[in-house]
Amino acid sequence: MDSSFPDFLNLEERYTPIEKGVRKAARAFVQKEIEPIIADAFLKGEFPTSIIPKVASLGFLGPTLPKKYGGMDLGDIAYGLMLQELEAGDSGIRSFVSVQGALCMYPIFRYGSEEQRMRWLPQMAKGELIGCFGLTEPDAGSDPGGMSTTAKPTEKGWEISGRKMWITNGTLADLAVVWAKHSETDEVLGFVLEKGMEGFSAPEMEGKLSLRASVTSELVMDKVQVPDANRLPTAQGLGAPLSCLTQARFGIAWGTLGLAIDCYREALQYTKEREQFGRPIAGFQLTQAKLVQLLCDITGAQGMLYHMGKAKEAGTLTHQQVSMAKRVCCELGIRAAREARSMLGGSGILADFHCQRHSMNMESVITYEGTHEVHTLILGREITGLNAFS
Ligand SMILES: Cc1cc2nc3c(=O)[nH]c(=O)nc-3n(C[C@H](O)[C@H](O)[C@H](O)COP(=O)(O)OP(=O)(O)OC[C@H]3O[C@@H](n4cnc5c(N)ncnc54)[C@H](O)[C@@H]3O)c2cc1C
Repeated sequence: MDSSFPDFLNLEERYTPIEKGVRKAARAFVQKEIEPIIADAFLKGEFPTSIIPKVASLGFLGPTLPKKYGGMDLGDIAYGLMLQELEAGDSGIRSFVSVQGALCMYPIFRYGSEEQRMRWLPQMAKGELIGCFGLTEPDAGSDPGGMSTTAKPTEKGWEISGRKMWITNGTLADLAVVWAKHSETDEVLGFVLEKGMEGFSAPEMEGKLSLRASVTSELVMDKVQVPDANRLPTAQGLGAPLSCLTQARFGIAWGTLGLAIDCYREALQYTKEREQFGRPIAGFQLTQAKLVQLLCDITGAQGMLYHMGKAKEAGTLTHQQVSMAKRVCCELGIRAAREARSMLGGSGILADFHCQRHSMNMESVITYEGTHEVHTLILGREITGLNAFS
């Protein structure tokens, strides 16, 4: 499929050679390594672990971190373009990379000691250690402050008990950043749990109809003894996990934009080739209206993310702006996938094409990292000054 997209905002002349280079590398990776295998992986419900050394060798794990910790010191627009290409491949692949980088390496980098950074980050960047992020619980999803996982101080460290669910990469992970409440003060604290710790297990959740090429797990913690050396020392309060979510949501917005572009491209190519009533279906006004609506909405989202990327690089991006980006781009992604599916007719439901897989994946992506409704409430609070959460 033609990998280009109309550049109505002339963004190409603004992207730096590094940004274009990262995008090119990610696109080539997806074409060579993901597209040939993803339909099968999705149908089987398997995350293709064989890609881990490849994404690591491209520097895609934690790329915005300093080189000292295995990162590439990459700017935020280059990072966004990388995720855009990966999610055009599949949301499961982008989720793996986002969780490793933004939800496991980032908290260790931001809230960990220098010793902890050096202990884990370089190996995580090489894909030798896989991480996950355990915040959501069976009874605490949109309201993570309602978590019941506890960390009880002991003579040697901490005793952690509780259950997390919906944890991406969980069963694969060597390390889990787990958020728990101090048993006496209720303050939210962050810990790094390691595979093999007694009382810690991560069974995979079965039966997903979405994000099938991704591992989703429970984390079960039964009086796990965790040394104080595994507590992230500066993570104090719910703001710490929420700051990690802001990091990841920025990337999700770029990723879902890539998914929408992939759907647009697939629909354009198909409708130009498919003939009904003696002419290509792209020649019908209703089809053109669908394509043009997607073109306009994708172009608007590209402009928004470019500016937000610049703001992030300047250190001025707010979490409310990130909520808007996540909300807009996820809504666009799910709509693009459904519109593309309609333009492909019956063929659209086949795994040979991308749009139905993207549509199913979007049901997870629009839910995790703050549902569409949660981001609506964040923005509603911002413009009215009134809290509609509870
Ligand atoms: C595939 C997948 C992977 C995930 N990966 C991770 C991960 O790696 N780590 C992790 O910690 N979590 C992960 N999650 C969990 C995800 O973040 C939660 O599913 C999400 O936060 C929603 O929580 P919930 O499913 O409990 O739904 P609920 O919070 O129970 O929400 C159910 C519905 O009620 C709505 N709702 C809730 N509160 C309000 C309100 N105040 N006003 C209006 N509507 C409201 C929601 O918008 C939603 O529509 C993952 C989820 C999925 C599906």
